[in-house]
Amino acid sequence: MKIGEWLKLAKKRIDALDAELILLAGLQDDLPAGVDRSYLVAHAEAEIAPKNCRELEEMLVRRASGEPLAYILGYREFYGRNFTVNSEVLVPRPETEGVVDLVLGRLNDVQGDLRILEIGTGSGCIAVTLALELAKMGFSDAEIVATDLSEEALVVARKNAQNLGAKVKFLQGDLLKNVPKGAKFDILVANLPYVDENWGWLDRKSLNFEPKMALYAPKQGLGAYERLLEQLVIKKVARTAVLEIDPCQRSEMRKMVQKYGFLVVREEEFGTVLEANW
Ligand code: GLN
Repeated sequence: MKIGEWLKLAKKRIDALDAELILLAGLQDDLPAGVDRSYLVAHAEAEIAPKNCRELEEMLVRRASGEPLAYILGYREFYGRNFTVNSEVLVPRPETEGVVDLVLGRLNDVQGDLRILEIGTGSGCIAVTLALELAKMGFSDAEIVATDLSEEALVVARKNAQNLGAKVKFLQGDLLKNVPKGAKFDILVANLPYVDENWGWLDRKSLNFEPKMALYAPKQGLGAYERLLEQLVIKKVARTAVLEIDPCQRSEMRKMVQKYGFLVVREEEFGTVLEANW
């Protein structure tokens, strides 16, 4: 089959851009290095080798069934860098880039060496991005520690840190459980599961492919954050926290954090910043 024909048929089954990206990925070994989608348009008459057709059809079926493109391609771009992903980790989302910016926006308040703790790192996209952005900004002594409950997720996160050359220390554990007693961080950042299973607007077809433990939380989605705050008031490892939540959870969040001695000091679309009054 010719490139142009394949694309025409594929675009009837899946999103046009996704079809082009799948075709590029499937033909990768046979194409000159570094070509982009424009190559496909210019070579619409070129034949696709039969050995590639089967693999391309498999990718097409996966995408048509709702599987996120990131899992099919094996990576997702986040903050200008490609992160390896698989179904053990949430696909990095653009809203989380805003959370990174919120953390970077707090650096003026930091005195001495900078220490950041990320809880629930998943693919590592927040911790790794922070490490690399901080290095660019001259915070070369910054220490970044990132935890996750899932060993499988940590395999992905470590790989990303290594591939991208980021210095991050990874720890397995449930929330703050294995964070050493007495450790102090300037900022805690987390994109914990915060989706309420009952939200009617969810795109279940695609969410079903992502790890449930990374998405859903009880108590209108705020249950995981509540457990984190419970542990935080006991361990007091950080007085500033930057958390990703859904915009619909803002007022509930404001109320909840007060119970643990925190005040919301800044709110962006998906990010909220808390400071302890203890
Ligand atoms: N923002 C994601 C979504 O709505 C959820 C991410 C999360 O639960 N931490 O799909």
